[in-house]
Amino acid sequence: MIASIQPSLFARMVTLRRDLHRHPELSWEEHRTTARVISELERLDLPYRRSLETGVVAEIEGPPGVPAVALRADLDALPIQEETALEFASVVPGVMHACGHDAHTAILVGAAEILAGSDEPLPAPVRLIFQPAEELGSGAKAMVEAGALDGVGAIFGGHVDRPFPTATAVAVEGTVNASTDAFRIAIRGQQGHAARPHETVDAVVVGSLIVMAVQTIVSREIDPTHPSVLSIGRFDAGSASNVIAGTAELAGTIRAQEPDVRSHLRRSITRICESVGQLHEAQVELEIEEGTPPLVNQGPMVAVARAAAASALGPDRVRYTVRSANMGGEDFSWYLQEIPGCYVRLGARLPGSASYPAHSSRFEIDENVLASGAAWLAEVARQGGRAMATGNGDPAHAGSVR
Ligand SMILES: [Zn+2]
Ligand SMILES: [Zn+2]
Repeated sequence: MIASIQPSLFARMVTLRRDLHRHPELSWEEHRTTARVISELERLDLPYRRSLETGVVAEIEGPPGVPAVALRADLDALPIQEETALEFASVVPGVMHACGHDAHTAILVGAAEILAGSDEPLPAPVRLIFQPAEELGSGAKAMVEAGALDGVGAIFGGHVDRPFPTATAVAVEGTVNASTDAFRIAIRGQQGHAARPHETVDAVVVGSLIVMAVQTIVSREIDPTHPSVLSIGRFDAGSASNVIAGTAELAGTIRAQEPDVRSHLRRSITRICESVGQLHEAQVELEIEEGTPPLVNQGPMVAVARAAAASALGPDRVRYTVRSANMGGEDFSWYLQEIPGCYVRLGARLPGSASYPAHSSRFEIDENVLASGAAWLAEVARQGGRAMATGNGDPAHAGSVR
């Protein structure tokens, strides 16, 4: 164990994390996980309320009139069949904690125990947010709409991350996760005999043209120094080798780091769909499903997150930059649309093991991140609270309760 937390607390966090790992639940189905969190909150004697069926919000008391500092964990697992050899591997077929949200939940419970058990009074109340459905990008938004941020002045959270050594924290200023929008394109042409193409409108040809044309949006329309991705992951069409398909369906995702790039991608894909449809007299319908906004760390809370990491883990254990942008999404961005805060990466590299990324069936983390994560989260609650109480947070929010 690297960070200085009590061995007995660390052991409890490991037990909790392993229990959650063994019993993973998909997004919006986190009933057992929620019950497990509630039993921990009851053990710590902390008031809580359920939110959205499978979410929980709890409070650690602080001085009145000061906005709370929120700490957030996500609860859900992924539809992946686990292939690790861990003795606490998932017992649920086809479901696995392959993103480390089991660790996030245990870390937040651990931080709550540190804060609730401390003799030193808190500078601000602490709101604990256990959120469902991060993997669908919809949990955080629903929690915000259900009032999870009422009375909160700043929010912090972290994600375990294997590329970085354990007991390091990476707190980057600026965009750290991309926006994620899904889209679906339905093409309707005219089905017919494969030997009589002149009597048909071939949905495969129309779809193929769209696939190729949208590749030029990122490569030829967007400034290459502003990262973005447009990927089509699904192309369904046709029924037989001698039948020209009358319909086709494509589905894909749009990722961008900046709002104007995001809207440019959406505009261009719309334009291309309309134009290619017209070109071939096919009906082309595009549906864009708005996902999470880009996650942008900005304002004074970035410095607070870094200072807390320096106190909890040591000044040499804090990184300010990363080599490349993360084009994955993270729905913590919904909270940062509302209030200031910071989202960090918590190093969890497993020494000597082959590296399997998050969302893989062999994903594993170094459990010592439970200690470093909880130490950082407890410290950032204090330092964030102090910034709130003294008005050194965002001037737009400090000193007032929303
Ligand atoms: Zn994930
Ligand atoms: Zn995740």
